[in-house]
Amino acid sequence: MELIFATQNKNKALEIQKMLPNTIRIKTLSEINCQDDIPETAPTLEGNAILKSNYVVEHFQVDCFADDTGLEVEALKGEPGVLSARYAGLQKDSNDNMDLLLERLKGQTNRKARFRTVISLVVNGESHLFEGIAEGVITESKSGSEGFGYDPIFQPNGYEQTFSEMTLTEKNKISHRGKAIQKLVDFLKKNYQL
Ligand code: IMP
Repeated sequence: MELIFATQNKNKALEIQKMLPNTIRIKTLSEINCQDDIPETAPTLEGNAILKSNYVVEHFQVDCFADDTGLEVEALKGEPGVLSARYAGLQKDSNDNMDLLLERLKGQTNRKARFRTVISLVVNGESHLFEGIAEGVITESKSGSEGFGYDPIFQPNGYEQTFSEMTLTEKNKISHRGKAIQKLVDFLKKNYQL
């Protein structure tokens, strides 16, 4: 089975391909010659994932899935959420985003946060949603050199290290994205005998 993953990010696609049985082959947008800037204008993660998957299905007539992830901080009423990539501005700089978040949490004792990934799958014209959540806390300062985004300031529950101090394999086992992908894989295996 061939599935288009609505992303231009080859590393992300590779990370997901590693979690899938080799009966499912993932292709990125560039592999179907799609260079379009797909709109991500919805106010929720669900909305954006659906927008992206539907865009690809409508324009390229393929089976497709799309994901959207956000960091939701309890004391900030779910911020940055859907704005996670551009929290500190359109330059989408991870250090700026982390600095702003640490600043907004200064003196705050409730540091509970969660990463949430939503995947929208459209296969044989039917739509399905999958969700993966990683609960944790925002640390007082950055530590670690692995990963990306908010990894240096996110410590998952039950661990002493931040995501950034873990290997990718360790992180994938407990991450929001890992859990959402696992649900996608289980669904495909069950319904398509892969
Ligand atoms: P995307 O939907 O995967 O592009 O994620 C949106 C934004 O959320 C990214 O630009 C990052 O700032 C943040 N983010 C998503 N996943 C992770 C993660 O696993 N670790 C740290 N930050 C993440």
